[in-house]
Amino acid sequence: MKPYDFLIVGAGLFGSVFAHEATRRGKRCLVIDRRSHIGGNCYTRLESGINVHEYGAHIFHTSNEQVWQYMQQFCRFNNYVNSPIANYKGELYNLPFNMNTFTRLWQDVKTPQEARKRIAEQQAEAATIDEPSNLEEQGLKLVGKDIYTKLVKGYSEKQWGMAATDIPAFVIRRLPLRFTFNNNYFNDPYQGIPLGGYTAIFEKLLEQTQVQLSTDFLANKEYWLSQAERVIYTGCIDAFFDYELGELDYRSLRFDHQLLRGVENFQGNAVFNFTDRETPYTRIIEHKHFESAVSPDTVISYEYPMTWSVGLEPYYPVNNERNNDLYKQYLELAHTIPQVSFAGRLGEYKYYDMDKTVERALAHPWLKEL
Ligand code: FAD
Repeated sequence: MKPYDFLIVGAGLFGSVFAHEATRRGKRCLVIDRRSHIGGNCYTRLESGINVHEYGAHIFHTSNEQVWQYMQQFCRFNNYVNSPIANYKGELYNLPFNMNTFTRLWQDVKTPQEARKRIAEQQAEAATIDEPSNLEEQGLKLVGKDIYTKLVKGYSEKQWGMAATDIPAFVIRRLPLRFTFNNNYFNDPYQGIPLGGYTAIFEKLLEQTQVQLSTDFLANKEYWLSQAERVIYTGCIDAFFDYELGELDYRSLRFDHQLLRGVENFQGNAVFNFTDRETPYTRIIEHKHFESAVSPDTVISYEYPMTWSVGLEPYYPVNNERNNDLYKQYLELAHTIPQVSFAGRLGEYKYYDMDKTVERALAHPWLKEL
């Protein structure tokens, strides 16, 4: 008999929920992670009384009542509502696109009717675009030139590291327009930030499970495979197979975290998006505003998008045709080793919000068998 029923590679949200549920059902689990901490990209650390979102702003939001209830076992959420501000060359606009944005963009627009009319006029200018062949055409067709130029173009170019005319159109299928004065970024009925930070959730999830940190599964793959009857692997699927079919593309990010001593309030909001092309970062996060933390200092993080290469953190999959086809080929390889399940955002090569990640972990077929 092998020492463990389940080896779970990755102490992120998928791995931790799975481990919690399997342990609760009496299974012998070991969780390993190559990082020195639990929590994956949701990890928060405390600095000067402020919970810092180390890998970028994480706001929990869901329409799934069951997931919301599930999470309450591990934390209490505050009533934070995500209302980012866009900074375009010093002009400030509310996001998502709503009546506050429109009345600021166009001084003569005061009512929803006037806003609809102005946007329709600008969409009409793009009417010759039948089937948008790139993000620029798609953006102009969806929202017209003013919103596109000031709030979509530069931000997208920085995110993707290329000109808007070279970014595929599928990247933005929809750009929702809201004709009310409502700055709530999400439409979900449930939203909040866990009081005390995300890491505390993971401490509870993994309370009864053996965890080994700073341990890279791939550095000793055969050994680790021999340690458990079944393996949940939440790392990159192409890395698991030593890139034998080629590399999948990812987008990476660099965070520049700064503690500003004696600065009580830097920008007055948790999330600022910089939507012009010239500012090199896409966002500044001021972490204390997520939990209204009381501190004489503040911690801010500049977020810089980066092209991914082996060795950097892969944050976002790039789900274009080439990569989706390659992923399917990797999945076929994966089917030859049924004792390993490829899961989470890197194993499935798909962006999942936290709620979807929890939902998918709870629905994993191996848990249903227990
Ligand atoms: P991860 O959190 O990435 O966990 C995978 C773990 O596996 C990592 O800890 C990694 O170190 C480990 N690992 C990988 N390879 C190996 C290996 N070879 N050996 C050992 N360990 C390994 N969702 C929201 O709902 N709201 C938000 O506001 C939000 N904001 C986000 C902002 C950013 C910048 C990003 C990138 C994501 C955001 N998300 C948000 C999504 C959220 O982060 C994911 O839903 C969640 O982290 C997915 O969990 P996971 O377990 O699949 O992946």
